[in-house]
Amino acid sequence: MPAFTDNYIWLLHNDRHALVVDPGDAAVVLDWLAQHPTVQLDTILVTHHHADHTAGLAELAEKTGAQIHGPVMEVLPAPQHGVQENERLAWHGLDWQVLDVPGHTAGHIAFWAEVPGQAPILFCGDTLFSGGCGRLFEGTPAQMLQSLDKLAALPAHTQVCAAHEYTLSNLKFAQAVDPDNAALNTYHRACVQLREQSLPTLPVSLSNEQAINPFLRSRSSAVSAAVKQRDPLAVDDVTTFAALRAWKNEFK
Ligand SMILES: [Zn+2]
Ligand SMILES: [Zn+2]
Repeated sequence: MPAFTDNYIWLLHNDRHALVVDPGDAAVVLDWLAQHPTVQLDTILVTHHHADHTAGLAELAEKTGAQIHGPVMEVLPAPQHGVQENERLAWHGLDWQVLDVPGHTAGHIAFWAEVPGQAPILFCGDTLFSGGCGRLFEGTPAQMLQSLDKLAALPAHTQVCAAHEYTLSNLKFAQAVDPDNAALNTYHRACVQLREQSLPTLPVSLSNEQAINPFLRSRSSAVSAAVKQRDPLAVDDVTTFAALRAWKNEFK
């Protein structure tokens, strides 16, 4: 569900029970629940503490009784059950695996689950976006690279459910870094068409991101050469990733 200017609040339900992820705006979720009176919100997953992901928590918990599961390392504006890597959360037949993915914030986590008969789902908050990655507010480039490597190792048909519709601006930067990437150029045209119809570009498969996202491709010869040309100090995986992230920060 779209919220604010470019957030998505993901909602998953089985006709009786629902979970939501990063509800920055309670009203969006309450409207949906009012339109689906047979569905009860029982679980809220939180990836990190930023207000656009957490401002709806207290009201939703109070009005629905849903339990909040979030990063054990971070303080949220409502009481929560803190979780971290290697913990699992059972939810109506799904087995959510928690991954520590620091970088955007120090305690950022992600949730991944296999879904019977469907592709696995990844809720990755502001760590991985289509065509990009989160800004490094609290973590180091080395941490973010390690976090993205962890996400990139998940099954390739995983559906990436990121928390922002940043795809077109990310792809503009990706094309500047990696102009000869045919898959990137094809994907860009598809995303332009979706956005012209006000449709989301997400979710997107992890295999697509492996092919087009410069932050998952920072070790490729095309991306690393482009970074090195701009910043001669980019000499290894971490300095190349750091220079790529710094380039994106300045890119207009
Ligand atoms: Zn954030
Ligand atoms: Zn955000």
